[in-house]
Amino acid sequence: MSARARLTAALDAARAWHGRVPQARDFCAWPDDLNWAARAAHRLPSSSLVLSTPGAPGAGSAALVKALQDIVGDVEWRHTYTAEEVGQHFLDHFCWFELAGPEGHFITHQARITVGYWGPGLFYPRHQHAAEELYTVLSGRALFHADGEADAWLAPGGTRLHLANQPHAMTTGEDPVLTLVFWRGTGLADPPRMTIGAR
Ligand code: ZN
Repeated sequence: MSARARLTAALDAARAWHGRVPQARDFCAWPDDLNWAARAAHRLPSSSLVLSTPGAPGAGSAALVKALQDIVGDVEWRHTYTAEEVGQHFLDHFCWFELAGPEGHFITHQARITVGYWGPGLFYPRHQHAAEELYTVLSGRALFHADGEADAWLAPGGTRLHLANQPHAMTTGEDPVLTLVFWRGTGLADPPRMTIGAR
């Protein structure tokens, strides 16, 4: 099977997940302008953790977790943040890639659909972006923080909405977390930036 075929299978699994999570369906329509981008693979040391330590999936997410594990060697993994911003330990246990979006393996300008992984015992510092965001948890669990809202532990199937420029952060405990994240609105190609100032 080619990388394109594996990535297409993962995209199909992501579409099925989007279809079965009501909050995801409500957040955005599945893009209808998707085009294959032939983006080169880029591995990071942390990307192997998606294979070795994905965390337990839940009802309905196992197929997507497996499809994402099948493309670990095919995708363009990114860090975005620097060791100065988040620390080297964080970078050694964090990775993400853009499955679909303005800079994704499948190009769309209607949404941004990314996969993010955090190992156990990490704190993802407070950050923000102009696009609205919906996290969906695929495996493991994490504690989600957002300005103006109560903290919430999310397990597979759990979702969290972040509004435009609403600062948010995340903590993992004993488990890692694997997420499928949707962006909508303006700034789909912009990186998140660390929030300046106290909560
Ligand atoms: Zn975010």
